[in-house]
Amino acid sequence: MPVGNTRARSGVQTLSNQVSAKMRRLNTVNMREKIEAVKFFNVTVEAVNPNIINVAVDGRYNSITIGHSKMLGQAALQAIGIACETNTKHKYILSAVMQHKLCWLRGKGVTVNCPGGHEGCTASLPVYAPLS
Ligand SMILES: [Zn+2]
Repeated sequence: MPVGNTRARSGVQTLSNQVSAKMRRLNTVNMREKIEAVKFFNVTVEAVNPNIINVAVDGRYNSITIGHSKMLGQAALQAIGIACETNTKHKYILSAVMQHKLCWLRGKGVTVNCPGGHEGCTASLPVYAPLS
């Protein structure tokens, strides 16, 4: 069976989606545990309010410029943001967000209004939505 076979791709996509969902759940639970660990740390070191967690945030785009020189809108199709706590020496990552407009149907002559508008779409934002 050739690797490019539609059935083989569909099977790989299904498996990938299952792994992705499990990884997302695992990561969410892990970050919740880290938030509780930082709150516990705050209680033990005479913090003013144990629920206050200081964070450092950074974001990246898959383009060197946020704007496009010839078209309206953003040049980037992907963005990732990460929030890292600064209360403890561990610098736990407490939140991570990834947004993208990548869809396997784009550029194939099909008009799509993603996300979730068709089966197998991987875009998390519509093409005209801002990355924020
Ligand atoms: Zn799509």
